[in-house]
Amino acid sequence: MKASDSISCIKGIGEKTEKTFSKLGISTVDELIHYYPRTYITYNEPSSIGELVTGCRQAVYATVNSRPEVKKVRGFTITVLYAKDFSGTIKLTWFNCPFLRNFFHIGDSFVFVGDVNIKNGMLTMTQPEYYEKGKYSAMLDVWQPVYTCTSGISSKTILKAVKNAIPVIEATSDYLNEDILKEYDLCKEKDALYGIHFPKNEYELKRAIKRIAFDEFYDFISNMNDLKKQRVYQENEAKICFDERVTSFIEALPYKLTNAQLEAVRDIMNDMSSDYVMNRLVQGDVGSGKTIVAAIALYACVCAGYQGALMAPTEVLALQHYKDLKDLFAPYGVRVALLSGSMTAKEKRLVYDDISNHKADIIIGTHALIQDKVSYDNLSLVVTDEQHRFGVRQRERFSLKGIKPHVLVMSATPIPRTLAIIMYGDLDISIINELPQGRIPIKNCVVDGSYRPTAYKFIVSEVNKGHQVYIVCPMVSYSEAMDDVANVVEYTEELKTQIGKGISIAYLHGKMASEEKNSILNDFYNGDIKILVSTTVIEVGINNPNATVMMVENAERFGLAQLHQLRGRVGRGSNQSYCIFISGKADLDTMARLEVLTNSNDGFYIAGEDLKMRGPGDFFGVRQSGEMNFKIGDIYNHSDMLAAASDIYRKYGHLIDKKYDNNSFVSYNNPVL
Ligand code: ADP
Ligand code: MG
Repeated sequence: MKASDSISCIKGIGEKTEKTFSKLGISTVDELIHYYPRTYITYNEPSSIGELVTGCRQAVYATVNSRPEVKKVRGFTITVLYAKDFSGTIKLTWFNCPFLRNFFHIGDSFVFVGDVNIKNGMLTMTQPEYYEKGKYSAMLDVWQPVYTCTSGISSKTILKAVKNAIPVIEATSDYLNEDILKEYDLCKEKDALYGIHFPKNEYELKRAIKRIAFDEFYDFISNMNDLKKQRVYQENEAKICFDERVTSFIEALPYKLTNAQLEAVRDIMNDMSSDYVMNRLVQGDVGSGKTIVAAIALYACVCAGYQGALMAPTEVLALQHYKDLKDLFAPYGVRVALLSGSMTAKEKRLVYDDISNHKADIIIGTHALIQDKVSYDNLSLVVTDEQHRFGVRQRERFSLKGIKPHVLVMSATPIPRTLAIIMYGDLDISIINELPQGRIPIKNCVVDGSYRPTAYKFIVSEVNKGHQVYIVCPMVSYSEAMDDVANVVEYTEELKTQIGKGISIAYLHGKMASEEKNSILNDFYNGDIKILVSTTVIEVGINNPNATVMMVENAERFGLAQLHQLRGRVGRGSNQSYCIFISGKADLDTMARLEVLTNSNDGFYIAGEDLKMRGPGDFFGVRQSGEMNFKIGDIYNHSDMLAAASDIYRKYGHLIDKKYDNNSFVSYNNPVL
């Protein structure tokens, strides 16, 4: 048996089981041994009945003091038994185990293990496991793995299969040599695999997790670097210098740039005038003023006689940028064009012509910008907004378009610099860590649905002051499967009946036609619409400084970083702004998670907390593209392993022959491309 063999060669796995395994993404032995337990059960020293606490799994040593009673209820049999010790009595029940009637005898003692609850004032365990004392003692230090299973396959079946694959684990040869293992205090790969499935104790498990996290990071880093190598440093064929016109453009702005913005502009201008093509990431909290930094870079290109492009993740945002930049550049004679996926073929053709004839200087749009039909006259700079929405490949593809353009990536989901250097290894980084002066911190609250009437009153009072309001719902329209989740269409109707009198309310979502979206956004910007009910299409980039309230329905359904983005839509002007997060779930965990938002308005802090809670895959929204699909590795909690992987790659990478590519990282066949 080899790692690459199909699992059907494992004893006990027939055709049917093989199919069921494939539902879990397991078809080879290698995939099986890299299918890690979800958790482990350990068997602890039994407590006395008096010491038991409810709501968790425990063991108790007690003596049977009733005869088993077997009842029939609706086709089930229920066996009830009472057991006691010096400190109390516990009731034990089993379903469909009538044979227990002859198994338990008054006076016998057993260790019972199960979830403890209280029913009618009585401590109970349902379906407890039972062991003789001697046998139980022998199990005390054994960790039992529990796997995520699916219908037709139990955790036990998976465990059995893994046990049968132990020879393959044993035969795993390490891609790291003894010296490196020693230097970085890592265990062997095969010991890690063994230890993650069958840990003898916590220490072994921790060692295993550490090594596996390392492997995942190493894989990621070496793949990332392969990508970097393909690109190398490209010679700069479009040198763009800090023209005087750019300086006067900056001086003519209605505000002074912050130092951090100036710093970023300087980095960009240095790059674009250097011998090599720019590949730069600008990170900054929401509201830190990234758009103007991008606009300055684009203007510098136009002054040098080139075209520039700005690609946004949504049409709504592309429209907004188009509108803003058109106004901004109008006095300078810069021609701005919009290219969006939902334009008619004829409209598109006209824009294509303008692009190829250089009748457009700056082109703004969504993915449409990178389609083959678009040919630029002399594209020199591509700005992609909110890069976490784009995969590495898309970025690449864009930069392959036309001549070798400079690439500027704007990200509003800030991560610490050290991490960013590893994650975006192929980019230079500028960080805007300063907000424009005079911003008043947003006031936040996290509440449940019972607060809604109060929130509505508050919203009406803000509208009466001449301010505007966003309300965000997770869904576009009603869905039977999720009827407890607010949807934009019904919510708007309901809101109109509740507070409609004289207040104009409209809704917006990504599925609307682009003209309709455009006209609604226009009406919202010029104040004709007071309350905008929307999906998260307004999450990024939308800028209406007159909006002072952001209310998010079903806030529990969003990640913290995303909620912070949404919140960033308010607090952009000189008025006090408010953010109301309404949670559809009021349990402690949910509320505690959302409370992070009320503790801080700092995007770096929130992104860090979010990343810790959700892991990088969900966080970066790239799980499907498999770029950071770590099963075990957690870039915060295992940051030492991330650093070790980066270090080892740098020092020894050229000597290491990385044999396994079992990670899905390499799956670059993104359907969008
Ligand atoms: P983000 O970084 O979230 O993209 P924006 O670029 O949309 O932020 O900027 C938010 C708002 O701040 C805009 O209204 C913009 O005009 C304004 N702004 C940007 N830079 C400054 C500055 N230095 N001083 C004052 N206001 C600024
Ligand atoms: Mg922005």
